[in-house]
Amino acid sequence: MAETLEADGVSRDFCEARQFSRSETGIAVELADGSSVNTRLLVDCSGRSAVTAGSAVTLRRLNKLVACYGVFTLDEDVEAIPVTLVEAVAIGWWYMSLLPRGRMLVGLFTDSDLLPAGLRKNAGLWADLASQTTAISPRLSSLGMDLAAAPELHFAAASTVTTSDLVEPFIIRAGDAASALDPLGANGLATALWSGIQAAESVVGLLTENDGTKAVRYQQQFLQGIASHLAAQTAMYASEQRFIDAPFWQRRRGPWLEN
Ligand SMILES: Cc1cc2nc3c(=O)[nH]c(=O)nc-3n(C[C@H](O)[C@H](O)[C@H](O)COP(=O)(O)OP(=O)(O)OC[C@H]3O[C@@H](n4cnc5c(N)ncnc54)[C@H](O)[C@@H]3O)c2cc1C
Repeated sequence: MAETLEADGVSRDFCEARQFSRSETGIAVELADGSSVNTRLLVDCSGRSAVTAGSAVTLRRLNKLVACYGVFTLDEDVEAIPVTLVEAVAIGWWYMSLLPRGRMLVGLFTDSDLLPAGLRKNAGLWADLASQTTAISPRLSSLGMDLAAAPELHFAAASTVTTSDLVEPFIIRAGDAASALDPLGANGLATALWSGIQAAESVVGLLTENDGTKAVRYQQQFLQGIASHLAAQTAMYASEQRFIDAPFWQRRRGPWLEN
């Protein structure tokens, strides 16, 4: 992607966007290096930060899901099958996925208030929890992985956060900045790529033809996609019947999921 941009003569600046101010004709973005960019249209792809979503935009957080994960480099002689493994447990679910360059991501997804006390500073506790699983634990062993030796435990927000306001004057949101999804559905990357393309086409429509049709259609299709994702997510959580008394699973049976 970077090579294509370069070949097409598209310049890129790498800097944190700090502040946004709208005028009658466009939007000014103040960057961390003190410079600013003035533009007629801004596509916000800032992920969960959703940096352009000010107080006027309603962000709905549907749960408190967090990921506690580590990234491991596999030994060179280990050949791992490139599949993602998910296992439900009482406090949430475990996730194992092969990453490029022979690395493996192992994570426990649970609600922030259900994280076992002391987990943040204790990879041994995390490894103990993994050892109690029925599918993750044997796979870790077969790959020669020792979670207790994790170089660092990372914590990341993974809750579902939605908004209906994707398109505003001078701003279009895409990817997680438009709506961040529960990773159980494994839709985040595909949605980010699809919505990035749709947002770009909306910009072309607005700038070259002064036509907002594509932007309106993009917003409608995105929101329809989110609605069907939430329905699929509900069905996935409902299919797990072993832990119906556990708070993590009870919370995912709320009335909002059934509507
Ligand atoms: C542990 C975990 C596992 C996941 N597994 C999967 C999976 O298996 N499959 C799947 O499809 N999805 C998965 N997801 C979700 C997926 O990672 C996201 O949906 C996807 O990365 C969203 O892409 P994005 O480009 O919208 O945002 P991001 O990938 O978050 O990128 C946003 C970028 O904006 C930058 N940025 C933020 N603020 C500013 C600022 N002020 N100025 C400039 N730049 C800024 C950030 O540095 C970042 O580079 C997972 C998420 C987590 C947390």
